[in-house]
Amino acid sequence: MKKNIGVYIHIPFCARKCAYCDFYSLQGSSVAALMPKYHKALLRHIAESAQQLRGYYIDTVYFGGGTPSFYGAGRLIELFEALKNTGSVLIDCEVTAEVNPDSVTKADLLKMRRAGFNRLSVGVQSADDGMLRRIGRLHNFSQAEEAVVNARLAGFRNVSIDLMYGLPSQSREGWADTLTRAAALKPDHISCYGLKLAEGTELYTFKDTPFIPDDDTQADMYLYAVEALSRFGYRQYEISNFAKRGFESRHNMKYWRGEEYISFGAAAHSYVGGLRYNYIADADEYARRIMSGDPVVDQTEEISTREQASEYLMLGLRTVQGISEEEYRAIYPCSFEPIEDKLKFCAKHGLAVKNDGRWSLTPRGFLVSNVIIGEVLESQTQQHAILARKLRPEQEEMQIGMTMFDKKQDEIPLFQGI
Ligand code: SF4
Repeated sequence: MKKNIGVYIHIPFCARKCAYCDFYSLQGSSVAALMPKYHKALLRHIAESAQQLRGYYIDTVYFGGGTPSFYGAGRLIELFEALKNTGSVLIDCEVTAEVNPDSVTKADLLKMRRAGFNRLSVGVQSADDGMLRRIGRLHNFSQAEEAVVNARLAGFRNVSIDLMYGLPSQSREGWADTLTRAAALKPDHISCYGLKLAEGTELYTFKDTPFIPDDDTQADMYLYAVEALSRFGYRQYEISNFAKRGFESRHNMKYWRGEEYISFGAAAHSYVGGLRYNYIADADEYARRIMSGDPVVDQTEEISTREQASEYLMLGLRTVQGISEEEYRAIYPCSFEPIEDKLKFCAKHGLAVKNDGRWSLTPRGFLVSNVIIGEVLESQTQQHAILARKLRPEQEEMQIGMTMFDKKQDEIPLFQGI
């Protein structure tokens, strides 16, 4: 029986680099010449993958970037047509495009809606025009409002907006104002991302200066967003994502549930048939190789059942739906008890909850999710060591002996605490 799969298409072009962005995207004078070449390569790559795609039903398509709207509605529609020509796109497929308010018109949105696009993700980021300039955005808030209004007029019934907090010199009041004005646009879905200062970005030079809100202030802004958005009718369903009921992103849920997705474009990642692989992060070279029939895969990794179980824990604990013993043991037949012990400890401190047999983190737990997930994964590693010893006592003992001989005890993380 055919399985469902998501498709991601990466458009690595932007009108200008934002001051905080470390995604793979290109801008500048060379982009105009590269776009047609890249586009041809994407069309060919999709056509060449038709046979593989025919083994699946495509139930979500996501055009991300970069800035897909800067690439142009016409090109996006051609890519979606190429996908439809594979004969695998389901009629009720969720089809999302990321758009920026400065590069999308009402006419573009009408064309996209008619071609079958049914979800938009609008990069709004802030309602404060001074802030938008500070972080290098090319639009103001009234353009963002116009983009959302135009999306509705074009017939989009599923509109998401992206917001950011912890921005340079942002106050709690400024963030509250952004949330209120963003919710007034009545989007169906809101993503809220905290600023992360990545090396190499323009804003990185301000790291550890008073210009950037500290961790405590950012945490405060996050908790405020959870509370305010709930008041406005948005239910949190993942660390950074909030939606009206029924408007959760089906495509992104695939990532968090460890489901399959296949990608096209430079730097894009896929997860198909237990293999994770990514294409080279060079749009020009990606286009050249596709057109000359050379391989474009940069790295491939086979995901073992144990790794699948780790990912289940890691990704599941990012969502409000959380994790369950039954689902975990269906992937990996190992005791859930030590994992549950860690979560019980977290529950005592208000960081985790158990409802109907499922464990999930609370908003306070999400704030320290990296630490909690690290602890949970460590207890899984210890269980794995016990299971491995039970299954292969002789080999395992030999291995332990050799390892102990080679290393000091405190350098053997696998066997700590057993
Ligand atoms: S528009 Fe998006 S991808 Fe492009 S530079 Fe800005 S944040 Fe990065």
